Amino acid sequence: MAGGPGSYVFGAEEKKELMDVIESGNLFRYGTIGVDGFLGKVASFEAEMAERLGHKYVVATSSGTGSLLCCLAALGIGAGDEVIVPGYTFIASMSSIILANAIPVLAEIDESLTIDPARIEELITDRTKAIMPVHMLGNPCDMDPIMEIAKKHNLYVIEDCCQAVGAAYKGKRLGTIGDIAAYSLNTFKTITTGDGGFVGTSDQNLYERAFGYHDQGHKPHRMGVEVGNRSIVGMNLRMNELSGAVALAQGRKLDGILEKLRNNKSILKNKLSDLSKFSFRTINDENECATLLTLIFDTKEYADKFCEAINSVPISHSGWHVYNNMEQILNKITATEANCPYDCPKYVVKSEYHKHMLPQTDSILDRAVNISIGVVDKGLGSGVGVNINSSLDDINDTATKIREIIESL
Ligand SMILES: *Cc1c(COP(=O)(O)O)cnc(C)c1O
Repeated sequence: MAGGPGSYVFGAEEKKELMDVIESGNLFRYGTIGVDGFLGKVASFEAEMAERLGHKYVVATSSGTGSLLCCLAALGIGAGDEVIVPGYTFIASMSSIILANAIPVLAEIDESLTIDPARIEELITDRTKAIMPVHMLGNPCDMDPIMEIAKKHNLYVIEDCCQAVGAAYKGKRLGTIGDIAAYSLNTFKTITTGDGGFVGTSDQNLYERAFGYHDQGHKPHRMGVEVGNRSIVGMNLRMNELSGAVALAQGRKLDGILEKLRNNKSILKNKLSDLSKFSFRTINDENECATLLTLIFDTKEYADKFCEAINSVPISHSGWHVYNNMEQILNKITATEANCPYDCPKYVVKSEYHKHMLPQTDSILDRAVNISIGVVDKGLGSGVGVNINSSLDDINDTATKIREIIESL
């Protein structure tokens, strides 16, 4: 089965929460607790997740993409604005920016497979509004230099935590370092409701705007005070009680899942650590999600031969997550027009995307191979490896197989 670790550990807990909702008859997220049997699973999920991650506020949504849209809307990012985003990420990071009418500006990654802080400043213009670091494959971005650059240039930071819920950087859970953060609960992520997501922030104004965007401009929880106070035009990106029930049970399993994955990963990693011909990718904090083990080979030839032997592909060929494979944007121009609020001329912002425009990213991804620890996903190049339910014997066998192949290269 393909999927993330959360999808491998569905059990009595998810079933109970879900059946409670079905029996209550209330599938819509709004109601008064106790009235007509309403249980408020979505609201409980929001409160528990906020507490767990250290956010003041969480808004549950219908997807990670929807959560990114809420973040951009909360910050007022739109026409004429540029957002710096890495070229190695899921398309949703770029598409949410384009759908917000803004311009994604693609940045290089480093050997952590997350945005290279040393290659951000060269991309900043007077139209740059935000940086969107993506905590790719469960690994925290190097947030200290990113926050420093953001502060220096007065930019917002939107953390894309869709692949890294629960991970931490220097003692802080991801998503609590920047201004606002988006998370996904899709089936391939660390915990899941099939599809779903949430936004986290500790800024009340951003919270109210994100909430409003996710629900037609309403004030949080439609408490009855919102009529006449709806300040923004919003969407419907609401989570329903069925998803909320599963999210609640999965959220309670999050830290246990992470502990198990970190343990399994260190077993596999230790068994390979004396080998040459590759290095492990840089991990910016050991409290990562440990959903994947990434090997970066010394040469492309080694990576290709290794992949042939394990029946996989290097990350550069893994499909959806590499800008080179995003035909939605390649050879196209995104352009937005903005009116200056004062008496200056209207300007047009454009950006064009080409294959191989990020040579540093290409060189790393040509040599990089993902082994699954907990996210089994061909689209991520991690169709091979172990899963969260693998036994110690399975992990040892996998390590032995990988060792033999690397030694024979
Ligand atoms: C999955 C993902 C998203 C989008 O999440 P959905 O729930 O699929 O909409 C955004 N960014 C990254 C990095 C992702 O991996």
